[in-house]
Amino acid sequence: MTTQTTLFASINGVFNTGLSFWELIGLIGATVLAIVTIKVVISFDINKFLDRKDKRLDSKIKNICPHVEITHAGDKQFSIQSLFESPPGTHLWQCRRCGLIRNNGGDYEKEYVYWGEHIDEYLNRMKEFEKLLKKGGAL
Ligand SMILES: [Zn+2]
Repeated sequence: MTTQTTLFASINGVFNTGLSFWELIGLIGATVLAIVTIKVVISFDINKFLDRKDKRLDSKIKNICPHVEITHAGDKQFSIQSLFESPPGTHLWQCRRCGLIRNNGGDYEKEYVYWGEHIDEYLNRMKEFEKLLKKGGAL
């Protein structure tokens, strides 16, 4: 009997909050329950949020992708190559970099001329593209 009393006294002494031991246990139980409930609600919302964010990011990536590859061919020469390719058995064209699907490969010539004259913009777009990939956790 004396050991038990001492034990309770020391536990009460440890917490020293003015609450009785069982009130404290009840409080901890309620807090744990509240945390679990909040976590369930948050994880549910986060999944929805991430899903929306992914879709937004995906369309952003497709908007920013120039869908061409410009490589330096030495001596102020650049080679511009379309990234659209048509998977076998389809009439659709898909960008190898961002995955955008088009009904046709696009107006190649116009695009080549445009990007050939706007190499700075191409480089900026590629920087932006990489940033978005990093944001999406793909890099
Ligand atoms: Zn693309």
